[in-house]
Amino acid sequence: MRLRVAVVGAGAFGGWTALHLRRAGAEVTLVDAWGPGNARASSGGETRVIRTIYGPTRRNVEMAARALTLWSEWDRSSREPCYRRTGVLWMAGADDSYARQSLPFLRDLQLEYEELAPAAAANRWPQISFDGVRKIYFEHEGGYLLARYACDAVARELVRIGGTYRQAAVASVRADGGRPDVRLSDGATLDADRYVFACGPWLGRLFPDVIGSRVRSTRQEVFYFGTPAGDERFLESRLPVWVDLSDRFVYGIPGNLHRGFKVADDARGPDFDPTSGDRTPPPASRELRTFVNSRFPALRDAPVLGAEVCQYEESPDGQFIIDRHPALPDVWIAGGGSGHGYKMGPAVGELLARQVREDGSPDPFFALARFNT
Ligand SMILES: Cc1cc2nc3c(=O)[nH]c(=O)nc-3n(C[C@H](O)[C@H](O)[C@H](O)COP(=O)(O)OP(=O)(O)OC[C@H]3O[C@@H](n4cnc5c(N)ncnc54)[C@H](O)[C@@H]3O)c2cc1C
Repeated sequence: MRLRVAVVGAGAFGGWTALHLRRAGAEVTLVDAWGPGNARASSGGETRVIRTIYGPTRRNVEMAARALTLWSEWDRSSREPCYRRTGVLWMAGADDSYARQSLPFLRDLQLEYEELAPAAAANRWPQISFDGVRKIYFEHEGGYLLARYACDAVARELVRIGGTYRQAAVASVRADGGRPDVRLSDGATLDADRYVFACGPWLGRLFPDVIGSRVRSTRQEVFYFGTPAGDERFLESRLPVWVDLSDRFVYGIPGNLHRGFKVADDARGPDFDPTSGDRTPPPASRELRTFVNSRFPALRDAPVLGAEVCQYEESPDGQFIIDRHPALPDVWIAGGGSGHGYKMGPAVGELLARQVREDGSPDPFFALARFNT
């Protein structure tokens, strides 16, 4: 008998988990309330950065490297490529520790990078002003991913290889004599041998006791600035994805399928309701404008062409949660992407699909027990 698995949530974590499970032979139903990569989901933006510089945590670098391999494999085998390899440029002030601490791991994993002097970087990317930048690193791999598009493509691939996608909302998960009783919003039962809940910022609502405020939803804003007409300097062929650590964590993505030059501040915003929160785009903040004016002089006072209001689903330590429900052994929970989960989708899915199939032990690095100590 084939293992029947219901995966709830068709974002980066759930979609990829469902696909890996199906590829390994399970009978998979992927369920989502509003659709893969929908506009409320954390995975629902146009683009997301993929990088392997990841501070002092080797595990994150390893996982990002594995994700890079899996995204590249997807691009090779699919007619719907989702990974744009621009490289990632890191700019730091006096404190470059976030980038520097990752470098030994990059070397071990044979991920190519170079360190550049500011004058050499200014020569290579004259559209950037390197004022205030002291340390510069360039990761050759990495770049950006077509985020909401890839969620949809992954769900369609699942269906193509024999899985099922269902648009439905899970209303409750209760224990029924040690077995999960999973009810949809129309009262029907969602029946399976095992369940994966990858509900992003909604996880705490479905599991108030186990997750609750451990996954906090924060309002985040991204802006698309208009570049000068006919100007090629802000195309992804001329400019990589970049991260600026010189003052705060600001990052940007060129290209975005011609939508504009994307810039965002990684600082956590106020609490945000992912279902009913108002996503009307705000004007760009004065800080962000000042930053763009000084770092990219050709974009001084450039018009904002568009903006997105999204949310991070933040865990207490910024690491993912991938674990069994403590009272329901057939229920697995994955989330807490904390502003950096998207790129990891294929690697999280690979890990979780193996654990679900093998009825294996949760990996302590991602386990809920770490919050008890
Ligand atoms: C502005 C912004 C920029 C970011 N930048 C990056 C980046 O550059 N690089 C990076 O790697 N990460 C980035 N992230 C983080 C990343 O996007 C998220 O961590 C990741 O997408 C989370 O995926 P998920 O599958 O856990 O959640 P989601 O994408 O939110 O998916 C959860 C899904 O569950 C469904 N759902 C919820 N409740 C129910 C229910 N009861 N029944 C049925 N379905 C349900 C929802 O409809 C949704 O589709 C960014 C996030 C934001 C907001």
